[in-house]
Amino acid sequence: MNKDNVELICNIGELSGLFREKSDIRGFLYKVVKTVAAHMKADVCSIYLYDEFLDRLILEATEGLNPDLIGKLILSIGEGLVGSSMKELRPILEKRGRDNPSFKAVPGSLEEKYDAFLAVPILQDVSRIGVLVLQHSRPGYFNRNDMMALKAIASQLATTLENAKLLMGVNKKNNGVREQREISVIRGRSIVEGIGIGTVYVLEDQHNDRGKDFYKEICDSLGLEDFQTALKQTAEQLQNLQAEMEERLSDVASFIFSTHLLMLQDTSFIGFIEDEIRGGKGPCLAVIDRVEYFVGIFSQSENPRVIEKVQDIRDLGHRILRNLAMEDQNAGDYSGQLVIARELLPSELVKITAQHVEGFVLYSQGASAHIAVLAKSLDVPMMYTEDKNVFNLQTNIPVILDGIQGNLLVDPGSDTMEEFQKIHSSVSDWSDLENSVTDETFTRDGKKLSLLATINLLSDISTAVKVKAEGIGLYRSEFPFIIRNSFPSEEEQFLVYSKIFQRMSSDIITLRTLDIGGDKILSYMPDQKEDNPFLGLRAIRFLLQNKKIFVSQLKAMLRAGQGRSFRIMFPMISSLDDFLESKRMVEKSREFLLRDGFECKNMPQLGVMVELPSAIEMAGELAEEADFISIGSNDLVQYLLGVDRTNEKVSSFYEARHPAVLRSIARVVRAAAKADCPLSLCGNMASDRGMLYFLVGTGMTNFSLSPGLIPEIQHYLNSLNAEKAKVDAKILLSMKTLKEVDSYITEVLSRS
Ligand code: PEP
Ligand code: MG
Repeated sequence: MNKDNVELICNIGELSGLFREKSDIRGFLYKVVKTVAAHMKADVCSIYLYDEFLDRLILEATEGLNPDLIGKLILSIGEGLVGSSMKELRPILEKRGRDNPSFKAVPGSLEEKYDAFLAVPILQDVSRIGVLVLQHSRPGYFNRNDMMALKAIASQLATTLENAKLLMGVNKKNNGVREQREISVIRGRSIVEGIGIGTVYVLEDQHNDRGKDFYKEICDSLGLEDFQTALKQTAEQLQNLQAEMEERLSDVASFIFSTHLLMLQDTSFIGFIEDEIRGGKGPCLAVIDRVEYFVGIFSQSENPRVIEKVQDIRDLGHRILRNLAMEDQNAGDYSGQLVIARELLPSELVKITAQHVEGFVLYSQGASAHIAVLAKSLDVPMMYTEDKNVFNLQTNIPVILDGIQGNLLVDPGSDTMEEFQKIHSSVSDWSDLENSVTDETFTRDGKKLSLLATINLLSDISTAVKVKAEGIGLYRSEFPFIIRNSFPSEEEQFLVYSKIFQRMSSDIITLRTLDIGGDKILSYMPDQKEDNPFLGLRAIRFLLQNKKIFVSQLKAMLRAGQGRSFRIMFPMISSLDDFLESKRMVEKSREFLLRDGFECKNMPQLGVMVELPSAIEMAGELAEEADFISIGSNDLVQYLLGVDRTNEKVSSFYEARHPAVLRSIARVVRAAAKADCPLSLCGNMASDRGMLYFLVGTGMTNFSLSPGLIPEIQHYLNSLNAEKAKVDAKILLSMKTLKEVDSYITEVLSRS
């Protein structure tokens, strides 16, 4: 059918006529999309309305997409093409929607059938009303005339839709009155996407006066028997939890609750509290006071390992109090609570997450990169904030952690809670994309690429297997070291590495030797404080100065990998000498193993991480000598640009699109190709679509990324034209300024 003069057909009279027909508001919206789809001869017409409070777009009507998604498909501003149209306040016209890097497939929406895409924002003066979207199965179906027509329709509809939106807001929740409450928002930065709903629990403040008042009210009337019941419950829960952790997080959570369990046997702790209760003190107060007494003693210790126990004793106190105060059998954990903390140790993060916390808000000055990495692997919603008001929040006040936008909503009321529950389930629905993942990854023009998984915890491997990762491109071996409070023995390490081989059958298993130092401090190592830790005794430098630790790790890796093909790589190599010395250490470790009667037939491939400017300079020589090279993009950007990757104040200088970064990568690619040395890239750049376009253009084919991101990145790479990316990469490499690169990448990717 011809769609000539569409702009004349859909006149305001017809649209306002719809409003006179009797129906509810959703019914009205449906008539609108049906009418517009018919006039524009589109397969799909949808209306997304903007919810100011949620700061989200919600699909409110559709002709053509799955109607089950109405009210459930919720997009952030900037998310997908629809969200981008709202964010940038401009129409988006694509021959094929999925070719645009911002495209985000919605599982179960049926939109995979449609190629052509046209979205226009609906605005009323300066306020955002929503987005009107057309789709069609024929690529390139919509043209500029259609865009003009749809813009005209959107502006005709703006007032009506604004009214509809207001009415829907009022009518929500079975015609009840939508809450008219002031909700304060604490803003921050999202670290782990996800929604956490619960009550406030400020980690460091739990036993201050506010906490005391809270518990006093609840359990003033309780006695010794209640305390003993709570103790019994606490011990049982902790034993179960410990057993569960051995199963689920054996690499980092082995004996993680042992201090708690020991304290429960300690008469100077438990016996003292019981005496106090017998003497007439309320059990809650007796627990709080004794916990604080121990906190005082532990925190004054000279020994950092004892200081770390401060949180263990508080954690134990928290559990006993919750068991005392609540009737639920399993109430001792952090379920229904959102933890706010000034500082959080990795071991605390694991412990509290294991106890079912709903999410974390961290004061950003106490936050570090490895906490973020770990939280992502544990998949617990997290945000950082610099707003100190977060510590003034009252214990137990309801909050919502919007880990997508990076906001904490304070005392939001039940309507908003429900809205966020909906968002929560729509976020989990995205995981359906996993079902569409294919064994291999090809670009649109048939270039084979490999997507490997970056593994931080053993538990990441099941996701990697589920999303069909072709192997492990990076196993960060440091977490078992960071979370324990002493060096894991060779045997313990062997058990952890063996599990990697058991769980992943691929021939590409890349184990990285210990990368500590920088912001990854081992509390049990004395004298680790340095003025410039990122320029200090980090990664391979630490290992080359602590050869016993190096050898024990290498031996564990060699033993675990017997009978399998695998790779070991060394982080932060700054010279050929570093690498040759590391290779010698592998040979030595093998000799030790043979001497001790172990079989050591197959040797791993040995690789270099290129992360330092000196390694880029020496890439040719390193490529000649190494079995493979992996570019560590996080550190490469940090060290090349001289920007601390953990320092919020300079985060705007941390720019992967800097021409120097592009040229350095191209240099390494050339050096590796010349020496016929396999090359891959790990770090955040491997999931940054703009940079991936460039990387594919340079000829790179192997990328290691967080396994959870593999489905969407594969989807994106499937839409790329590698030949075109090659031409664009050349152009990008000729550019002189960051601004040029940035706008070229943005523009080239939004072209179809
Ligand atoms: C990197 O630097 O890109 C990398 C993968 O290593 P890490 O982030 O562990 O330093
Ligand atoms: Mg690194």
